Amino acid sequence: MSVPPFRVGTGYDVHRFAKGRELWLGGVLIPHTQGLLGHSDADVILHAVCDALLGALALGDIGKHFPDTDPAWKGADSKKLLAAVVQLLDDAGWLVGNVDCAVVMEQPKIMPHVAAMRATMAPLLRVPEDAVSIKATTNEQMGYAGREEGAFATAVALVYRKG
Ligand code: MG
Repeated sequence: MSVPPFRVGTGYDVHRFAKGRELWLGGVLIPHTQGLLGHSDADVILHAVCDALLGALALGDIGKHFPDTDPAWKGADSKKLLAAVVQLLDDAGWLVGNVDCAVVMEQPKIMPHVAAMRATMAPLLRVPEDAVSIKATTNEQMGYAGREEGAFATAVALVYRKG
């Protein structure tokens, strides 16, 4: 059976907003009145991208590889999680092609930070910056994201076989 040298995966992540937390998105610290709550730094963009990459190779999800019951990941910098996932793919014989992510929150405005996110994520993914897409939208004031109780992100990733 011949298998194409490409795989795709999707990812989704959500975190609750909480006062007194830093807001980390796409590996960048963003000034805001509150941050996202989680065992790690709760970076929904990087977590969605991790899950998309793991999903492409059917390697499970971020919770399997970095369980929130493990004190090793308490307060973890999600850039380290993403780097570990990319290494996992590399070890399995795969490289990242591109990622496309959408983050949904009412505030703060994301677009001013997108260039910094792409510049941060590209070397971790080992791709050029034009292979990293970050999009943002509000939830039109509907639901938990609309009430600013939390934020979520979705991602798609393409990976390709080395060599
Ligand atoms: Mg998460």
